[in-house]
Amino acid sequence: MNKNKIMQALVNRLLVSSLFSAVILAVSGGAAAQGRLNISEVKDGLHVIMGPGGNIGVRLTPEGVILIDNKFPQDFEEIQSLVAEVTDLPVRYVINTHHHGDHSGSNPGFLQFAEVIAHKNARENMLRGNQEGLPRIIYTDETAVSLGGIEVRVFHMGSGHTNGDSVVYFPDLKTIHGGDLLHGIAPFIDYGNGGSSRGWVRTVNNILTLDFNTAIPGHGEIMDRRDVLNFRNQMEAIRARMTSLIRDGVNISDVSNQIIDPDLSWTQIEDGLFMQRSIPGFFNEILEEIR
Ligand SMILES: [Zn+2]
Repeated sequence: MNKNKIMQALVNRLLVSSLFSAVILAVSGGAAAQGRLNISEVKDGLHVIMGPGGNIGVRLTPEGVILIDNKFPQDFEEIQSLVAEVTDLPVRYVINTHHHGDHSGSNPGFLQFAEVIAHKNARENMLRGNQEGLPRIIYTDETAVSLGGIEVRVFHMGSGHTNGDSVVYFPDLKTIHGGDLLHGIAPFIDYGNGGSSRGWVRTVNNILTLDFNTAIPGHGEIMDRRDVLNFRNQMEAIRARMTSLIRDGVNISDVSNQIIDPDLSWTQIEDGLFMQRSIPGFFNEILEEIR
């Protein structure tokens, strides 16, 4: 993209932005990206922004952009710059796949000129966590955004990562954005916000009823349908392993060591979210199930 085009994109953005974001852009020098993030094409009309924080889906339409998630607060300007590399049109809607700050952190910036949509429980979790930038639009079972002839469908298919997870479906591209319900490295079961491994298996089975061949996970590389199936299978396998460990009398303090298994990749990543943050709640969830 040449400099004129970037300037034009900036001007367009300033026209639709409030004074607040205009001031931020002026202070920061606008399109001068910090270089932490990168954008790449997933399919025609759909890009992904990767880098620290949750993967962002960038769905282009003839009437503006629908953004799925928006990383941390400090990423707002760089996200705007990267979007301006692929379209001159502004972001009109943001869908938060859930409440975590690495997926919804730039809500305050985008709310200056776009609508933010999330599941009702995700908004409640944000409210309880004193997060800034609450979504103005919530839904319970499903909703959709129709913009410029493009339809983006949003489903709550059950609990898993949290109790407010959204699955975003791009039917014309046979592609989904799964938020952290799909994790390329090792998932975090957020028990403090209604997460559940049992619910997670059911929810991924529901995801698999959609007609898709490509999935953007919350973290990690782009997945295909087989990767999503494997994710579901590992969740089932790890639940079975925890069940047998508890039945064998392993206690909560030893279970982190005992659960490590070469066939379960999530347990092989010692500093991953599964081993670091999910184990005690997972132990208690399974204990409760088999009691
Ligand atoms: Zn998350």
